[in-house]
Amino acid sequence: MTRVGIGYDSHRFTAGRPLILGGQRIPHDAGLAGHSDADAVAHAVIDAILGAAAAGDIGTHFPDTDPRWKDADSMALLRSARDIVERRGFRISQADVTVIAEAPRLGAHAGAIAAGLADALGVAVGAVGVKAKSNEGMGWIGRGEGIAVIAVATVEAR
Ligand code: MG
Repeated sequence: MTRVGIGYDSHRFTAGRPLILGGQRIPHDAGLAGHSDADAVAHAVIDAILGAAAAGDIGTHFPDTDPRWKDADSMALLRSARDIVERRGFRISQADVTVIAEAPRLGAHAGAIAAGLADALGVAVGAVGVKAKSNEGMGWIGRGEGIAVIAVATVEAR
């Protein structure tokens, strides 16, 4: 049986932090604010795989009130989330990610982000899609206040 999960995340830009998306350090004049490393791509994928397994969400497993997750490497959290999903009897099949940001342009980084996600999820690189879109200048994303990420993932019951 195939099951689908969806994940969403958003983070505000802040000066003085590196911008990390899907475990890749992206050159930019600001990073993202957050308790962990604020990797919105990793967070959205975590919620997608947890959702597919009906295994809660990132906040229930890695609460941002817990000092263990301060400045945490979110790709390590993604690997932990994969363990949770696999212990519930599922194998991850694929994931697809859309990053919505006015800047920076992420197209040149999509391949590296997909490769890192695929490694963390235990799937082939060709099983992870990563796309980047602008928000056509509209709203908080258009004003460059932050980044939003939507992800879906499918899992198979083993
Ligand atoms: Mg987040």
